[in-house]
Amino acid sequence: MGSAGVVALVSAWVAQSSRVTVLTGAGISTDSGIPDFRGPKGVWTRNPAAQHRFTLDRYVADREVRVEAWRNRRSHAAWTAQPNAGHRALVDLERAGRLRALVTQNVDELHQRAGSSPDLVVEIHGTMRQAECLSCGDRWPMHHVLDRVDEGDSDPSCGRCGGLLKSATISFGQSLRPEVWRAAVSAARDCDLFLAVGSSLQVYPAAGLCDTAIDAGARLVVVNAEPTPYDGFAAAVLREPISSVLPALVDPALR
Ligand SMILES: [Zn+2]
Repeated sequence: MGSAGVVALVSAWVAQSSRVTVLTGAGISTDSGIPDFRGPKGVWTRNPAAQHRFTLDRYVADREVRVEAWRNRRSHAAWTAQPNAGHRALVDLERAGRLRALVTQNVDELHQRAGSSPDLVVEIHGTMRQAECLSCGDRWPMHHVLDRVDEGDSDPSCGRCGGLLKSATISFGQSLRPEVWRAAVSAARDCDLFLAVGSSLQVYPAAGLCDTAIDAGARLVVVNAEPTPYDGFAAAVLREPISSVLPALVDPALR
């Protein structure tokens, strides 16, 4: 079957589905100008050491690691990125009442900026738009903390308890939030179609949501530029650019 045939087939599945759970990874945001991690031009493909520099243990132990993290944060591409047609197609799916949940590995909040309901977005790796105290859990808007960095506070601490502040994202070596992870698992269990979009499906436990969905009887569809370990378990695999293929899947299904 040609790729147009596969798109039409998957679009028909979307049309038949009443509970679609979507898992998104960095690939959905590359068309918004945010580099991914494991793709051919990915941050970690080009610099494998970078992923080990910011483990939670090193962040806590080493002031220099924190200073570097705060200094680099302002230049992140996500601050100026805009949602793309891929994000917007998932908003359309939600408005048609078909979306069970939108589980994302991304921390850029582009789904919410596109118009996805925050209630349906499950941010398993947290958000870069907030900072969190590692001691008391208090949260602060990231831009407030970055203003302090700009004013010369190179390692800002919690205004409430003096503890270490960190981006409210899940670092290497840091556990997922149990209640967030439970929401992701129940969305994978309670869907009839599971779309894995722009994820290399190499990071666990996120990738294991595909197993959960398949075990619960859902169809798995993988949309990713590069092969993934789950392609062999998928009912269909699409390699087209995400910002064009998601509207091509969703628009005809909602007509
Ligand atoms: Zn605190």
